[in-house]
Amino acid sequence: MNLKKSIEAFNEAKKYIPGGVDSPVRAFKSVGGTPPFIEKGEGAYIYDIDGNRYIDYVQSWGPLIFGHRDKDIEEAVIKAVKRGLSFGAPTLIETKLAKEIVELFESVDKIRFVNSGTEAVMSAIRVARGYTLKDDIIKFKGCYHGHSDSLLVQAGSGAATFGTPSSPGVPASLTNHTLLAEYNDIESVKRCFESSNNIACVIIEPIAGNMGLVPADEEFLKELRELCDKNETLLIFDEVMSGFRASLKGAQGITSVKPDMVTFGKVIGGGMPVGAFGGREEIMNRLSPEGDIYQAGTLSGNPVAMSAGFKAVRKLKENPSVYEDLERKAKKLMQGFKEAANERGISLQTEVRGSMFGFFFNSKPVKNFTDALSSDTDRFAVFHQEMLKRGVYLACSQFETGFISTAMDDKIIEETIQKAKEAMREVA
Ligand SMILES: *Cc1c(COP(=O)(O)O)cnc(C)c1O
Repeated sequence: MNLKKSIEAFNEAKKYIPGGVDSPVRAFKSVGGTPPFIEKGEGAYIYDIDGNRYIDYVQSWGPLIFGHRDKDIEEAVIKAVKRGLSFGAPTLIETKLAKEIVELFESVDKIRFVNSGTEAVMSAIRVARGYTLKDDIIKFKGCYHGHSDSLLVQAGSGAATFGTPSSPGVPASLTNHTLLAEYNDIESVKRCFESSNNIACVIIEPIAGNMGLVPADEEFLKELRELCDKNETLLIFDEVMSGFRASLKGAQGITSVKPDMVTFGKVIGGGMPVGAFGGREEIMNRLSPEGDIYQAGTLSGNPVAMSAGFKAVRKLKENPSVYEDLERKAKKLMQGFKEAANERGISLQTEVRGSMFGFFFNSKPVKNFTDALSSDTDRFAVFHQEMLKRGVYLACSQFETGFISTAMDDKIIEETIQKAKEAMREVA
């Protein structure tokens, strides 16, 4: 594979941008090699500046459930652009998108839009603290909720890859308010509640996608809900990734447990920068200007971004059966990866939720971050490189989730499995 232009571009980028990237995981540090610089995308594929074509299982880390250049979304964006990029004043499209989401999520009466998942979670936590008048929060090891100060403690995703449980620049006085629990381990949550009676909220990815794909057990979520109720603590589902990915209703289409607040991002922007947080009316009405909890954004609810998001969400609502098809393909892909590994005597743990898939080079089931970290990242790195060479673009870390888009047909899945067989030979 020729990456000549990407190598040059990466060197040039590194002169002006730290590490040459605007988000750490993109630098391919944990798998080695040079990240291909992308020129364009089309359907299931992306093309780099050297002209290599890849089947894209990253999809901009989740948003592009319809693949690249979906005609309807593209059209909606172009139409919006022609009416003006931004006004900083209310527009109709914000209410339209809000209504779509509120109608779908029983736990959400009102919602506010922001520009990223990070901002959504940060704001939700502020509301939870303001509403409960408590300061502490509980988060789970390996769950990623964006890079805001209070949440950058034992985070997954890029932070896991780099082995930095927290980051310099985050004051200890702030992270003191963040209690850490083990995913799928209710006793660890009880211990947090025993050590503090000042807990505003528990934040969780109900389907964790940032330590690899690790869903929460139903029983665990139920007990979590009970603990929150008993302690007058809000339960926040971070569905920035799982929302509109695991099912039309995200994790909430799968579990019966109802959160008090929900955060969104990724798919609800249709590929544009959008995040959102919502919850019960009495909680959300505390937000300024209705209430006293401050939160704002110059470009929040941007009409171009809202138009892309509205089209994506509307299309999904109109075709709810896409999820069955996406899940069938995800299962087929994971079954294929597993067989390819097993043929070479390699153990692989696989998981699927809707259009999300994950695999660990691990001989034991992965239930939490500790389990995830026991995976063989060297094997993952080889697999990743061998797949990339063969035109398959997978997330460049063991601790990420892969995605199926509606642009992928069965032939593409079968082709990927064939390549996985070849790659597993190299892994072994
Ligand atoms: C991606 C993600 C975030 C952060 O969203 P950004 O848009 O990258 O800031 C937060 N929570 C979860 C669960 C995510 O997957």
